[in-house]
Amino acid sequence: SMDWKTRLKEQLDPDCLLWDDASLAKYSMDYHHFSPVLARELKDKVAECIVSPRSAEELDLVLSILTEEKVPVTVRGNGTGNYGQAVPLTGGAVINLANMNKVLEIGDGYMRVEPGARLGKMDEAARECGQEVMMMPSTFHTASIGGFISGGFGGIGSITWGTIWDGFVEQITVKTIESPPQTFTLTGDEIRPYLHTYGVVGIISELRVKLAPRVEWMQWAVTFEAWQDAVRFAMELASDDSMMKRLVSVHEWPVSQYFKALKLPAERSAALLEIDEQDERKLLEAISRHGGQIDRRITADKYRKGIGVSDFTWNHTTLWARKADTSLTYLQTTHTWDHVFEEMAVIKSEFPEVMQHLEFNKQAGKLRIAGLPLLTFTSDERLNQLIRRYNEIGASVSNPHTWDLEDGGRSFVHRKLWELKQANDPYLLLNQLKLKEYKPDLTVS
Ligand code: FAD
Repeated sequence: SMDWKTRLKEQLDPDCLLWDDASLAKYSMDYHHFSPVLARELKDKVAECIVSPRSAEELDLVLSILTEEKVPVTVRGNGTGNYGQAVPLTGGAVINLANMNKVLEIGDGYMRVEPGARLGKMDEAARECGQEVMMMPSTFHTASIGGFISGGFGGIGSITWGTIWDGFVEQITVKTIESPPQTFTLTGDEIRPYLHTYGVVGIISELRVKLAPRVEWMQWAVTFEAWQDAVRFAMELASDDSMMKRLVSVHEWPVSQYFKALKLPAERSAALLEIDEQDERKLLEAISRHGGQIDRRITADKYRKGIGVSDFTWNHTTLWARKADTSLTYLQTTHTWDHVFEEMAVIKSEFPEVMQHLEFNKQAGKLRIAGLPLLTFTSDERLNQLIRRYNEIGASVSNPHTWDLEDGGRSFVHRKLWELKQANDPYLLLNQLKLKEYKPDLTVS
């Protein structure tokens, strides 16, 4: 029989295929290099071909050929994930969905899109219709919606609307890894195994997500002499339901020194905010009550024009820090609301290299504090010690230094995920090695 590469060449438009070394390297990469551990472990992983279908029909054709020839398949949105999720761990083909990027429909309270649609474009289109996307990662300029719900969890908007598990995704269309692929549409709880499971159980070829009413967002950088004051201020804003917010993000000095473009004052901790312009007066009162200093106030007409404070939040904080100092890396933790100060104090005294960065969000309607602390990487042992310590004190870690789904954070019941994978991907070709085989633990009765 013909080999799979010949079959792809014969049946697809040459524009859909990339074979040159530079492209293979580029489309086999994501942002796992934020982790020195993953950078070391994944550095030689590269695909043999990049296939970029432009429609669901082309995607079906590609999947049929690759399944018949038993070629490992890795799905890629736009490769901004941090866990090596889009890296082809076993070679084969990368299916790049960036060209399946159409907004198909905008209705009252929802939007239907292809999986490669970029969140920034979706938000722009929604805002033109008096609505907005409920949540998006700080990578919204490039990140795709399919990649966000498969590999991310929340971001800008999560302080009000929660994370991807909170009803944001109303419907998905899934394709199996078969020849021909089956296509089915899921709603409600049936969507859950596809959320943040690194694309291991099927390829999402279309989505419907909820929209919120458009808000005119003002952006602020407010600084404080004491880190604790910045955190208390953020906690108050986060819990004040009378104020409409899209972003509440705080950074312990010296983290804000990495935000060159914001030109924030030295020796002060910073809060970066997106707040409804109608709530300006309330915000000003809170700033003065907590002894904050306004260092940037960007009016709503400048939203998404020029500098935006969200470009320095979530994992963009890590990006700017690493641009200044490549020895820096990070963790992802969840602090308990009532003990956040004690938790940070323990870490500060035992691991003085840690610089704190907190992102306020909601999950299942409850306020949560996500920590994305920065630290200088010295060794795997030291990093693992820190992870253990965070877990011990109750500020649980989603480890960003592994590509294994179960170790990397909240996903879905392992056994059920494995069963679903076997049904949708019978030859186990899709996103290999990211989901460990489920083996019942016979020692537990
Ligand atoms: P990719 O990296 O291409 O893919 C992610 C995963 O999804 C892979 O496992 C891939 O196989 C799978 N996948 C992609 N498309 C599909 C599909 N259609 N069907 C099935 N599986 C699919 N994440 C957050 O949640 N919040 C943040 O605020 C945030 N900030 C970030 C900041 C920086 C600077 C960086 C580098 C990353 C950040 N991330 C954040 C992580 C990442 O950017 C987001 O999760 C992003 O949404 C991923 O989208 P992508 O299109 O780049 O996906």
